[in-house]
Amino acid sequence: MKAAVLYGKEELNIVSDFDDPIMGSSDVLIQSKYVGLCSTDRSLYRGFVPFKPPLIIGHEIAGVVEDLGASATGLDVGDHVIIPPVYPGCENETCSSCKEGLTNRCKKSVFIGHGVHGGDAELIAVPSKYTFKIDESVPLDEACIIPDAVSTPFHALKSRSVPPHIIQHTSNPNRLFDRKSHWLQGKNVVVFGVGGVGGPTVNLAAKYFKAKNVVAVDIFNEKLEFAKNLGATHTVNSKTYFEENNIVINELSGRDKAKAISGLARHISSHLAEDKFQVDCVLDCSGVPDTFPTAVETASKNRTVIQVGWPPKPVREFLNQKIMDKYLTINGTWACPMNEMKEIVEAVEANTVDLNLLVTNKDYTLDRLENAIHDLEGGKILGRATISIV
Ligand SMILES: [Zn+2]
Ligand SMILES: [Zn+2]
Repeated sequence: MKAAVLYGKEELNIVSDFDDPIMGSSDVLIQSKYVGLCSTDRSLYRGFVPFKPPLIIGHEIAGVVEDLGASATGLDVGDHVIIPPVYPGCENETCSSCKEGLTNRCKKSVFIGHGVHGGDAELIAVPSKYTFKIDESVPLDEACIIPDAVSTPFHALKSRSVPPHIIQHTSNPNRLFDRKSHWLQGKNVVVFGVGGVGGPTVNLAAKYFKAKNVVAVDIFNEKLEFAKNLGATHTVNSKTYFEENNIVINELSGRDKAKAISGLARHISSHLAEDKFQVDCVLDCSGVPDTFPTAVETASKNRTVIQVGWPPKPVREFLNQKIMDKYLTINGTWACPMNEMKEIVEAVEANTVDLNLLVTNKDYTLDRLENAIHDLEGGKILGRATISIV
């Protein structure tokens, strides 16, 4: 089959005779039609993340079922499907993480396009129980971003935003996580970084979880315009803020730096004056380590900060007294548990996610995957790009 194969750092070859995947009895064989381009693909390509070559990359996959193993269930040939990038690899979800409901943190997690071959190829075989059918009304060149770019922020917002003391002091805590009565409804959310993941975060917070205000923070005005279209009620360009206040943040340290960060945080929450400057949940989707202190500074007391974007380096200077003093909950998040995938598919089918806005580049083909990676790196892709496989 035709496939985009990484043979080593920056050695991405399009080959036409790669071995077809072997389908197990509980697997489905899927024709990969469109694959979302993620910064993880770029990290693999540049060798920032270790991998075992040869590796077919691509982990945001939408396709069509071509064949079913003898014991595969729930799907038919021709069904349109999406595949989560991380799914459990333990026997019947019996590892300690899966038993706690964290199928996204399975001890034997399978990482498509990293630990095993991915979807930048004509075919891929996946267990049928981790393959999710999607209505044909959802275009496959948009559906492919659901598995990672949409599902990761979905899980963060749905399951990682509620502070523990609220859960503890509610008679029916399940209501806090149910869409109809979700805790985020009517709350104020701040999102740092409006990229491939930050965009869906803004969109879901505003449209699906019905936050009252969503403040988007970035250093590029075009990203902030994009955020407005996705539902942000306010935008802040942090770079412009520092420039206008004659602050060169990278030259500051200690108290001066803390003061500058605190000024930016106050500027961000000043947009919420009507609500007594209340910031209920901060999501850091920037992937920039030094955003974390600003995120902590921006959150209101007794509230939550969620690390959604992957920071490649440690924070340089940070005084964690603030976490204690503000009684903050700092939550990590990782992919999406299998039981939330169905809800996401329903959300998309009900048109509560603006996939058509989130996918901003549809003209890349598999042959041009390397160009797409360079464009992503060069900041030329506003939202998500999707790669057409055939
Ligand atoms: Zn990804
Ligand atoms: Zn497991």
